[in-house]
Amino acid sequence: MQNDIALFSELCDELLKAELNEPVAKPIPTSELYNELNLSLDTNGIVDEDLKITLKQIVRSTPKTASKSFFNQLFGGRIGKATLGDLLSVMFNNSMYTYKVAGPQVGIEKQVLKNICALAGYSSNCDGTFAPGGSMSNMMALIMARDAKSESIRANGLSSKMTLYTSAVSHYSISKNAALTGIGRNQVRHVNTNNKGEMLAGHLDELIQEDISNGYQPFFVNATAGTTVLGAFDDIGSISNVCKKHDLWLHVDGAYCGGVIFSKTYRHLIKGLELSDSFSINAHKMLGTPLSCSIIVTQHKAQLYHSFSNEADYLYQTHGDDFNLGKTSLQCGRRNDALKIWTLWKSIGTIGLEQIVDKQFKMAQIARDYINQNDNYTLYSFDDSISICFNYKDIPASELCTALYENSELMVGFGKFNNQEFVRMVTINSLLEEKDILAFFATLEGHVVEKMLNMNAS
Ligand SMILES: *Cc1c(COP(=O)(O)O)cnc(C)c1O
Repeated sequence: MQNDIALFSELCDELLKAELNEPVAKPIPTSELYNELNLSLDTNGIVDEDLKITLKQIVRSTPKTASKSFFNQLFGGRIGKATLGDLLSVMFNNSMYTYKVAGPQVGIEKQVLKNICALAGYSSNCDGTFAPGGSMSNMMALIMARDAKSESIRANGLSSKMTLYTSAVSHYSISKNAALTGIGRNQVRHVNTNNKGEMLAGHLDELIQEDISNGYQPFFVNATAGTTVLGAFDDIGSISNVCKKHDLWLHVDGAYCGGVIFSKTYRHLIKGLELSDSFSINAHKMLGTPLSCSIIVTQHKAQLYHSFSNEADYLYQTHGDDFNLGKTSLQCGRRNDALKIWTLWKSIGTIGLEQIVDKQFKMAQIARDYINQNDNYTLYSFDDSISICFNYKDIPASELCTALYENSELMVGFGKFNNQEFVRMVTINSLLEEKDILAFFATLEGHVVEKMLNMNAS
């Protein structure tokens, strides 16, 4: 093992160097992938020296999500202390289902959950768990809401047409989960939004009333704290009023921007969170931990237990339910996702997490200021968002983003709202500085100039 740790360390050095020297790895066309890299699995293994060469090639050609040129998705960068925690959890290789097997790691997970519950403003009756990503956190919320509506579903399955509500611009996992949980995609109602992508509570109420009069059984509303494209925040207060009126479970999907619970400056964006029944947050997005680190908390501890516990005498042999976390989780064997966020939180404190979140908004403002001061750009996103959506000189966003990627210049994606397509730059890497944001625009503009020169020459 010592040799492998030494090799690991050497490969990490390669990676860190590559992130600086070649921040956007040269993309390998899919048709060339198996020719360029030695990926085949054969009867006999290869000697260590060859394995090392192959691994180094893989290191060089794997996309660099921690580099200063990565603006593609809702994660990025690498925060040392969080990565340290994740690496340690791999070495421990515990499974989080029982105290017997995970020991203090259970206490670590419970401590993170307790603090998140407190920040959400939840009552003492709250609890939660770590799910394998935000999509699965949303599914757990949906299952709790379904079971809360009808005590017998867990035993007998669905017997009525149940309907759920989410905004037209919410994450696709809501529809997918409706299919997975037996609710059915056709029972998902997409609520209209205003021009900023925020759900309209009035339209929500209308849709619910219409469904009730048509014999459906509404049970669940999903509000989003940071929509995936624009980064919009649904107004929890007004949506909660509608939910209370009709006795519906309110989940707040904070996978993207739930991290604002840490910020005195931005927590107003999730005002009313304490009125929700459940809340999820991806620490691997705003809080900068490695993938994946998704947390779901609920004010209804008994419901979490009711929906997810199962007796198993081959598994639960010591200690009480409160410390055997398998009684409230989606999976059986479960990787330790808590240690990375705990290590980070422990080392920089709640105030450090606040600084991480605030920094992202600060970088977003720098980007918006740059765009607003330059006539060649059109801005489509709004203040208080770390998604900066824009177009440059009316160049189709999909073409521009793909060319930047294929030329190894920038990793950035595109999105759509109201049929308008645009570049979506995400300032979620809290290690970036103003010069990095300005370098992004300089690279983009340089690319366009170069392309025009090439076109004129040919
Ligand atoms: C990213 C995202 C999710 C899904 O999270 P995964 O961890 O990728 O499964 C859900 N909801 C929103 C709003 C997101 O941005």
